[in-house]
Amino acid sequence: MFSKILIANRGEIACRIIRTARRLGIATVAVHSDADAGSAHVALADEAWAIGPAPSRDSYLRAEAILAAARASGAEAIHPGYGFLSENADFAEACAREGLVFIGPPPSAIRAMGGKSEAKALMERAGVPLVPGYHGADQDPDRLAAAAAEIGFPVLIKASAGGGGKGMRVVDSADTFAAQLAAARREAAAAFGDERVLVEKYLTRPRHVEIQVFADSHGNALSLFERDCSIQRRHQKVVEEAPAPGLDDDLRRRMGEAAVAAARAIGYVGAGTVEFLLGADGGFYFMEMNTRLQVEHPVTEMITGLDLVEWQVRVAAGEPMPCRQDEVRRDGAAIEVRLYAEDPARGFLPATGRIAHLRFPAPGPNLRIDSGVRAGDAITVHYDPMIAKLIVWDRDRASAVRRLRAALAATELVGLATNLDLLAAIADDPAFAAAEIDTGFLDRHLARLL
Ligand code: ADP
Repeated sequence: MFSKILIANRGEIACRIIRTARRLGIATVAVHSDADAGSAHVALADEAWAIGPAPSRDSYLRAEAILAAARASGAEAIHPGYGFLSENADFAEACAREGLVFIGPPPSAIRAMGGKSEAKALMERAGVPLVPGYHGADQDPDRLAAAAAEIGFPVLIKASAGGGGKGMRVVDSADTFAAQLAAARREAAAAFGDERVLVEKYLTRPRHVEIQVFADSHGNALSLFERDCSIQRRHQKVVEEAPAPGLDDDLRRRMGEAAVAAARAIGYVGAGTVEFLLGADGGFYFMEMNTRLQVEHPVTEMITGLDLVEWQVRVAAGEPMPCRQDEVRRDGAAIEVRLYAEDPARGFLPATGRIAHLRFPAPGPNLRIDSGVRAGDAITVHYDPMIAKLIVWDRDRASAVRRLRAALAATELVGLATNLDLLAAIADDPAFAAAEIDTGFLDRHLARLL
């Protein structure tokens, strides 16, 4: 086992990783930008190294600076968290060159799933069902328009290099396709430096159901059940839960097997998530695989009683996974909500400012708060505006929803605009309580909820 690891991240996920490392008796090294010198993750770690100015590209995305901090501190491994360098195969390779263990999958597996188009082609060969569509290399506008007509409108144009819902356009008919394609390309080029797109059938009212997979370096791979992340705004998750309400065991098993097949097909090691759309027809279709720990991993931890960061660290150290598929159990229901600094009065655009007052209800077996900020801290334009994740657990979904209402009602935050009222309205909503959820839920109900 490692004696010291560096956490190449900030905020709640850095704090969460540090806590597990500490429990395992591993010393922790934080890195931070100048803006974060006084932040929670720095205070929590055993030591901290400055890696550059506030903008991410000058600090948290600077592989060289992070590797230098690892060398100087004597860390043996690097946990990348999510975002930043977590899905950067070049960084994973650079770690290996320096004799550092990257706590994540092999670079080849990151690359295999790095582009949505290539990933779909790979999954097709592995026999994993796909969202119908075109993911070819020929990017000629006429070819793409022909593919869209063949797929049948509405279609979704997606940036192949996409993430965070950027570069996505729904197209309802052939006459607007060319203009939407041009717009999607511009957006993709600006956000990812890569204008390639794929075209998919736009499913109506699907659910987003993803499978948590895990694999070790001894050839074992298993699934840790699913998460339903259908409550989204602009294709971004707001509420996540496990298990997916109403999913029958046979479908759960088939989705789990497909996800494990996907992981095996690319020689996966570590924690990964295979994202599917679940159609109204009961069919499930591969969208993409995220080759890292997900923001919403705590709901899986709450129903399985496992610590996924511990598993990541153990597997990266070469240990086999702590249990076999038939030993994985789940119990009850867990729901996570993402508390963001964003302004409801301005279409939920990210908000900035200082947190004047912040109080969460006391955590316990039924409530977990993952946060990386404290009263007095500022939410700036430089980073993700997430303030905290509130995660509730209870023996069934209805009880968990009641816990969620109570937790949100007892949360106090003053100083900047947040989505707290929206989260509370969702928790109070009868349609949410009845689990009548799909990816259009928030768009449909937003006006009523506000
Ligand atoms: P990103 O990587 O940018 O987050 P994803 O491919 O993961 O993009 O898709 C994000 C969300 O967009 C999904 O959870 C779903 O709500 C919606 N979405 C993606 N593909 C489709 C599709 N073919 N039909 C309907 N909705 C889709």
